[in-house]
Amino acid sequence: MEIKITRTTSPKAKPADESKLSFGKIFTDHMFLMNYDEGQGWHDARIVPYGPIPMDPSAMCLHYGQADFEGLKAYRTAEGKVQLFRPGENMSRMNVSNDRLCIPQIDEKFCVEAIKTLVKVDEEWVPHSYGTSLYIRPYIFAVDPMLGVHPAKHLIFAIICSPVGAYYEAGLAPVKIYVEQNYVRAVTGGTGFTKAAANYAISLKAQDEAAKQGYEQVLWLDGVHRKYIEEVGAMNVMFVIDGEIVTPSLDRKSILSGITRKSCIEVLRSKGFKVTERDIEIDELIKAYDEGKFDEAFGTGTAAVISPIGELKYGDKIMTLNGGEIGKVSQLLYDTLTGIQWGRTEDPFGWVVPVE
Ligand SMILES: *Cc1c(COP(=O)(O)O)cnc(C)c1O
Repeated sequence: MEIKITRTTSPKAKPADESKLSFGKIFTDHMFLMNYDEGQGWHDARIVPYGPIPMDPSAMCLHYGQADFEGLKAYRTAEGKVQLFRPGENMSRMNVSNDRLCIPQIDEKFCVEAIKTLVKVDEEWVPHSYGTSLYIRPYIFAVDPMLGVHPAKHLIFAIICSPVGAYYEAGLAPVKIYVEQNYVRAVTGGTGFTKAAANYAISLKAQDEAAKQGYEQVLWLDGVHRKYIEEVGAMNVMFVIDGEIVTPSLDRKSILSGITRKSCIEVLRSKGFKVTERDIEIDELIKAYDEGKFDEAFGTGTAAVISPIGELKYGDKIMTLNGGEIGKVSQLLYDTLTGIQWGRTEDPFGWVVPVE
């Protein structure tokens, strides 16, 4: 499919001070759109000036939330080149989400090309400073103008881009997390393994209450037994216990299969670390902590790459990890992944995809 490009005649001013960029508040000059209509499949791939997308007030996504998304970044290297990190993984994961939500499959290779083409058109929007990037948000939503609850026959696939600042201005800062005991994010048989838009709406309440108590995020426990660790906020989670790295397995299908998670596992194994994917009970963490074997905890995800956990609270029990400092494994992963993403170090895994 050809991508028709219509360039804006009124480009916006680019952010003057890259050190003041926050997350997802300003958008580039263009966006990618493509429509799905039953009988026709995906069609009319186009890049157009960024702007409102008209839809009917009865559009199905507004009522029943048949929508999903992805998130990845374009990075500028020291030489000024722009590159993506494992974009094919995002597009194949989007098809996993699509399948669960009765959204038609996309052509993964074509959609990677669409991302590259859009980033190329808005290349000047990719910020230059180390740690900054262009956040790319592909998403799909149902637009059938009707209120019946059934899989949509008309959908829109869109991609928008936002220049974002360095996640950590003053180096890796450990966060305070509390273990959520009232609310759950996902259950087996639900949509926890997908990036369904609705997953994020249902997580807001817990996040809000955590914030009120002075915690940055919540650690989610499984929805059935309320004891197995799942994720931290919208990140995957890893622990270093007695020198071994452990992370919840994906088997229950209530955990999102993060590309950062997968990359961390591959980096760690390539460096000779022992990494185990298995069930982890909250009580196991407490026991390890009391025995002095709980070395590190950190979240993994595209936005922050690695987010070290400095404090973990479960009921009345407060665990301070690594003296509230960044642990060795967290730092090693952060340095290795950001090195590859920003082209500062060699990419022995073949993860980087240039935008040419
Ligand atoms: C997106 C996401 C992650 C992280 O995935 P990455 O591919 O590493 O960015 C983890 N958990 C949830 C719930 C997510 O939505």
